[in-house]
Amino acid sequence: MTTTTEWTERYQGAVMNTFGPPQTVLVRGEGSHVWDADGNRYLDLLAGIAVNALGHGHPAILDAVTTQLSTLGHTSNFFATEPQIRLAEKLVELVGHDARVFFTNSGTEANEAAFKATRRTGRTRIVVAEGSFHGRTMGALALTSKAAYREPFEPLPGDVTWVPYGDAAALEAAVDDTVAAVLIEPIQGEAGVVVPPDGYLQAARAITSEHGALLWLDEVQTGMGRTGAWFAYEESGVTPDLVTLAKGLGGGLPIGACVAIGAAGTLLQPGNHGTTFGGNAVSTAAALAVIATIEADDLLGHAVTIGDQLRRGLADHPLVADVTGRGLLVGVVLHQPLAAEAQKAALAAGLIINNATPDRLRLAPPLVLSEDEAADAVVALRGVLDEVSS
Ligand SMILES: *Cc1c(COP(=O)(O)O)cnc(C)c1O
Repeated sequence: MTTTTEWTERYQGAVMNTFGPPQTVLVRGEGSHVWDADGNRYLDLLAGIAVNALGHGHPAILDAVTTQLSTLGHTSNFFATEPQIRLAEKLVELVGHDARVFFTNSGTEANEAAFKATRRTGRTRIVVAEGSFHGRTMGALALTSKAAYREPFEPLPGDVTWVPYGDAAALEAAVDDTVAAVLIEPIQGEAGVVVPPDGYLQAARAITSEHGALLWLDEVQTGMGRTGAWFAYEESGVTPDLVTLAKGLGGGLPIGACVAIGAAGTLLQPGNHGTTFGGNAVSTAAALAVIATIEADDLLGHAVTIGDQLRRGLADHPLVADVTGRGLLVGVVLHQPLAAEAQKAALAAGLIINNATPDRLRLAPPLVLSEDEAADAVVALRGVLDEVSS
């Protein structure tokens, strides 16, 4: 049997070093657990970064993918397929307004599609929040806050204005009739599950409407049930113009979507945009299975219950300053910058978590995480926090 150490050496000899050394090499997954090449078992509290909504090896996804692949696999977008049409209709139903969908393979591509749609307004300026993450391709990167990600690749598409996240007055001051769109994550995921003050999205909607700008919400991480609603913006009652999705949409199959509501749905016209793989039959079939399972098993309600259980279980630990997020997007803010140590100690204790920032841990477990698994997670995580604070 090839060990994790041997696999890691081979990885480093053949795979481009963009991610740093892997934490371990995984070989198998089942439900909320994964196993590495040495046979160690982990409770997966990150789910491939908010992707594996139904956990690992869920029969509904397996069945949808194998059935679709044995019926009809790739076609190109010269042709339409049944699951693609059904998924577009389903997403339109979930946003609850007249809308049109463009399918992609990833979150960054969903944002590229939306970015190009904003250019068809005849305006170019985009107002974006500090702390944002929107992806790594050149367009999405131009709209991503972290200078260390952006600066080595400049010049990037321009006319971007930065405002502090959650500050409605700053947004009001920045937006005028030259702005094409305001781009916001309803909860900032990569920044460590940062929730804006109440009323922020409503203010953003009012300000964009007043100036004829689009409200573009990046729900790549927060969407598809992650926060206990189909879309995190629902709680605010606003209707955005553009919604970008990916991560949880395909339950592990690569798929993203740009959903354009109302008049925004016709900004992109024939010849304006395209993709070879986007909206392929297999990934859209997987996404339909994910949505059907979330509905059948009430995983939206479950995400709220289990998310509250995790927050309640961790909030009173002496190292914890705050617990943030909604549903199963959970931020754990530490009093000290010990997140990297905690992530390592958690891995050694059989838990996969993420150190989003030096003092913020992020949990984004499968939406199917059970009450018992969540209880185990709380006990184990408290042990990890004890260990790193002693
Ligand atoms: C992950 C993420 C992206 C990028 O998605 P990729 O599939 O990695 O390209 C964009 N926006 C947000 C909010 C994300 O969390």
